[in-house]
Amino acid sequence: MSSLFSLKGKVAILTGGTNGIGLGYARGLASADIQQLILTYRSQSSLEQAQAKIHEINPNVAISSIKVDFLAEDEDAIVNKIVTDAYSLSQTGSIDILINNAGITERSPLESFPDDKFQDVIKVDLNIPVKLTKLVGYKMLERGTRGKIVATASLLSFQGGMHSTPYAIAKGGLKQFTQAVSNEWSGRGINVNCIAPGYIRTKLTDSMAEENKKIVNQRIPLGRWGEPDDFMGVIVFLCSDASNYVTGETIAVDGGWLGR
Ligand code: NAP
Repeated sequence: MSSLFSLKGKVAILTGGTNGIGLGYARGLASADIQQLILTYRSQSSLEQAQAKIHEINPNVAISSIKVDFLAEDEDAIVNKIVTDAYSLSQTGSIDILINNAGITERSPLESFPDDKFQDVIKVDLNIPVKLTKLVGYKMLERGTRGKIVATASLLSFQGGMHSTPYAIAKGGLKQFTQAVSNEWSGRGINVNCIAPGYIRTKLTDSMAEENKKIVNQRIPLGRWGEPDDFMGVIVFLCSDASNYVTGETIAVDGGWLGR
């Protein structure tokens, strides 16, 4: 059983692995003995705190980093930098796992949604994950890598939400993109899946009013908000041999929310 879930010898790129759900993913991958994590990061202090939390789980994981702000540069330049740096940092010369997790949200009624904020969400949550998948997937196919690609979707991959139009477009698009790419690449050795978190306690949801947090809580069948470490198991499953016949899926990790 343990070899089914082992990530020994594997190298992963993880965007947004320095906080929240991404850090939960990183800790999960560390618990499965991944060889090397290549994290994108924005601030040195977040990176250092994340490294400590990953090494709490497994001190043997090599952690490499690429400093990049998805809003600071042209998206093609960002994607090219991540891929070029990641392949040169990889201890094995391969990238076996790509996890598109970094994400932002902006809220406003559509009729007054500022155009720049709208475009920021589409850029970070959809365009960069799509382009990163295309480029890393190209290299995986070229090298014959047995690959696993995972993106962080959302409940808004399934529902429209309210006042979060670009986020719903991006997360709905990621779910469809995952199915489309899976159809092209799963027969060539690359599984492509999404994880759709429910309501999770992270910086992203910090600003929600306390009253609304309580209302949400009452609707979650499991009776509590999710925590980043609730993602440790599902990410290991989707990145390991345990999920070799699972592809094109969006797995909700939502305490039962969607079933209600
Ligand atoms: P979070 O704690 O704010 O983490 C977001 C991650 O994305 C952080 O590592 C952050 O970097 C990175 N990031 C944000 N803006 C970036 C930028 N401009 N350039 C590069 N990296 C950037 O929030 P989270 O909830 O864990 O979000 C992770 C993913 O889960 C997102 O895709 C989000 O849409 C999705 N999600 C979250 C929930 C939820 O309830 N929390 C529900 C559904 C889906 P720093 O570490 O530097 O801040």
